[in-house]
Amino acid sequence: MIEIKNTRVLVLAPHTDDAELGCGGTIAKLLDQGNEVHCAAFSACQQSVRPEFPPDILIREVREASSLLGIPEQNLHLFDYEVRTFNFRRQDILDTILTLKKKIDPQVVFIPSVNDVHQDHYTIAQEGLRAFKLCILFSYELPWNNLTFQSTSFSILSEAHLERKIAAIKAYKSQSHRAYMTDEFIRGWAHMRGVQIQERYAECFEMVRMKF
Ligand SMILES: [Zn+2]
Repeated sequence: MIEIKNTRVLVLAPHTDDAELGCGGTIAKLLDQGNEVHCAAFSACQQSVRPEFPPDILIREVREASSLLGIPEQNLHLFDYEVRTFNFRRQDILDTILTLKKKIDPQVVFIPSVNDVHQDHYTIAQEGLRAFKLCILFSYELPWNNLTFQSTSFSILSEAHLERKIAAIKAYKSQSHRAYMTDEFIRGWAHMRGVQIQERYAECFEMVRMKF
């Protein structure tokens, strides 16, 4: 078993909530293991927030979710790209990622899957791959968006790590109508991935680049 320790980690999230959903338990675990974890979210989706919520609700929710996971406030990097337009801003997004790279110099990076069908997720995956091809690189899973996903790598989660993931996801009250935001789904998904490796709970990643 390979452990990630004393390392700078960067999670690239197209939208607020993608990092918590794809790797919230692993973020909690990596923090407990003494890693420096940064999370960058490229859009708070102000254009698609439901009318009963203030347009900036996701900015408040991502701050709360990150703090529940244990990410220091200064390690949460928020950007204001318009939702569903990332594919038209490819070079700007690459420049933003390269600025983060220079500032953080991460050794391990998490990106969405290059097989993610959402145009914003796909753009972050492609530009993340371009920027971090020389790093240890994993793609995280968002099953409702992945047509295919290679289950090549697993992060074992404790009950406490899973509970922190669930608490972080619950912070997104504006997204609670989505079928994948329920405790039942998050726990069942982690359990399904755990069963594949003879553990109770896990998160699954596609291994894009590895070095050891
Ligand atoms: Zn998203």
